[in-house]
Amino acid sequence: MARRTFIAGNWKLNLGPASSARLAEELVRTLADRGEVDVALYPTTISIPAVQAVLGGSGIELGVQEVEAFASGAYTGANSPVLCREAGCTRALIGHSERRQRYGETDAGVAAKTVACLDAGLLPMICVGETLQERDAGVAADIVGHQVRAALSALPADRVGALTIAYEPVWAIGTGRTASPAEAQEMHQHVRAVLRSLYGDVIADGLRVLYGGSVTPETAPALLGQPDIDGALVGGASLKAASFAAIVRASH
Ligand code: PEP
Repeated sequence: MARRTFIAGNWKLNLGPASSARLAEELVRTLADRGEVDVALYPTTISIPAVQAVLGGSGIELGVQEVEAFASGAYTGANSPVLCREAGCTRALIGHSERRQRYGETDAGVAAKTVACLDAGLLPMICVGETLQERDAGVAADIVGHQVRAALSALPADRVGALTIAYEPVWAIGTGRTASPAEAQEMHQHVRAVLRSLYGDVIADGLRVLYGGSVTPETAPALLGQPDIDGALVGGASLKAASFAAIVRASH
């Protein structure tokens, strides 16, 4: 089954409203002829309205980097999937390793946020990945398999189709060290096997599994050429229009 390539830019805690709007404007212009590839931008929360105003009818989607599992209430400082949807987001990252490592995100939290996003009409991208110690200990596949199963534990098959999974080895995020195409393909194949065991062939063959971890215009072609790598979640290289656009173009 053909899966449409998906390139996502995670701007992390970079760029305020004015500079985010400028980068989004440049991308709308540069990627007007991008062809058959889905593109989404995840700016800082404070910049979501500014980017939303620029993206207009460009077809480039808008996502939020982090949400809570609740719609509203006494949660000072939190982001709600419902309110992000109201602000024009159609997508959300969930369980990014920086959230798991620095903010204590748990597998249970990831599962609850996934359901809350789907309830609010946001398409979740669930991030999974092993640390270097886990890879060196030979348990990378077990860890990633466990994260995928835990994230999906509350989801019946009829809700899973809206998801994207991002495999991001923690040792490759922001380090300049990318998994080799063969290493990444092996783990993507494993993630798809886990999906197959949970939901069967149609869902396993239809869901997109993106790779993330120091993707650059140089490394993108070989990674995106792997049969089970359906796109990229890009951090550092998404902060410049030229490098992000080159990664989008590397997908075909
Ligand atoms: C990320 O933020 O998800 C990421 C992969 O970052 P980088 O591309 O900078 O490694």
